[in-house]
Amino acid sequence: MSPETLKTEVLIIGKGVSGLILHLLLERKGIKSILIDKVSSKQNLPLAETIPPSTLTLLEEIDFLPLFETFSTKTYGYQSKWNSSQISDENFFLKGKYGYGLKINKQKIISALQQQSNRIISVKDISQLETKKNTNTILIKKLNDKITSIESNIIVDATGRKRHILKQVNINSIEYDSNLAYLCYVPKKGPSLKYGFFTESFENAWGTISDLNETTRIVSLYTSKENESYKLFKDFTNWSYLLDKTELLKLCIPRNGNFKVYGKLANSSVPSKITFQNIISIGDAAMSFNPISSHGVSNAIYTAKEAALAIEKHMTSNKYSLVNYDKKMHTIFKEYFNQKEKLYQL
Ligand SMILES: Cc1cc2nc3c(=O)[nH]c(=O)nc-3n(C[C@H](O)[C@H](O)[C@H](O)COP(=O)(O)OP(=O)(O)OC[C@H]3O[C@@H](n4cnc5c(N)ncnc54)[C@H](O)[C@@H]3O)c2cc1C
Repeated sequence: MSPETLKTEVLIIGKGVSGLILHLLLERKGIKSILIDKVSSKQNLPLAETIPPSTLTLLEEIDFLPLFETFSTKTYGYQSKWNSSQISDENFFLKGKYGYGLKINKQKIISALQQQSNRIISVKDISQLETKKNTNTILIKKLNDKITSIESNIIVDATGRKRHILKQVNINSIEYDSNLAYLCYVPKKGPSLKYGFFTESFENAWGTISDLNETTRIVSLYTSKENESYKLFKDFTNWSYLLDKTELLKLCIPRNGNFKVYGKLANSSVPSKITFQNIISIGDAAMSFNPISSHGVSNAIYTAKEAALAIEKHMTSNKYSLVNYDKKMHTIFKEYFNQKEKLYQL
């Protein structure tokens, strides 16, 4: 039996913030797109990510600010003890038009964005991608096991750090570090945090405490695979020892009990080609930032906005628009990289 065939102008793979925002921006421009997402058995962890005041201006520009604000709490800064003997304040009030950032509930934002579209397909698997000069064809296995073929002029890789589509066309990534994040959800304990967020550096590592709700905190420890003891971070029973020389982090983790530790990639990397023929990548797939920058979600929104413009121009026969998008993003990544190095030297 031959597969059912769907046709679309743009096919977006990945239902994170980047994929959904691009999908909705294209819809507003009258460009037909389909978004597909692989259903995973893995749990989506609440990360309570923070976005800085500058991103609020970006969200206002593309008319998504009210939606983000509905599922966020305002944050006015954070405290840190970063390569210093003192706890210092970083106050968002001083910056930008808004004077506050947002601590977002990403899962709720994703559901709300998703509700605005009826062109999202959940799939079991993306089995094959065939690229041609003007049309890409992708075979997907739906949840009911039916195979569907989707033909599209442009394919967008929004699969996050996995870069699933770029990998299928043999685009390699340049990794600049091997940072990892280890997260744990613990009952609130220890001092209350002025802004609900605190960060502290310690030997070959750093950690954050973020108030998730009235009763729970997320403690995240970041280190690199180059740190010989990185494997110790995987087991909560080692955390008291690892945090022994910290001032505040150690006060916020329960001494007894064993809590589940979740590991996540948190490195800086960029694909050698952010666009390749008529495949374009956005969000973490286009460039992934170490969480020290707090700009992963901003990057997802910004690249979606820029990709929507590039795709629109491409369709009105500007043959350089996708290449120009690639150049612009590589320049931004270089700039981020220089800034990141400065942050570590503070
Ligand atoms: C511990 C930690 C803390 C962080 N804190 C912050 C913070 O405070 N502020 C901030 O701005 N950023 C932070 N970030 C980064 C931020 O979470 C990401 O940069 C951002 O969510 C990336 O969005 P995205 O849409 O590019 O990708 P993702 O959110 O990764 O979405 C990718 C989507 O692709 C789908 N997918 C993957 N593979 C396939 C496939 N083969 N087929 C189909 N679909 C697929 C996935 O299911 C997912 O829906 C943090 C990250 C970590 C790990």
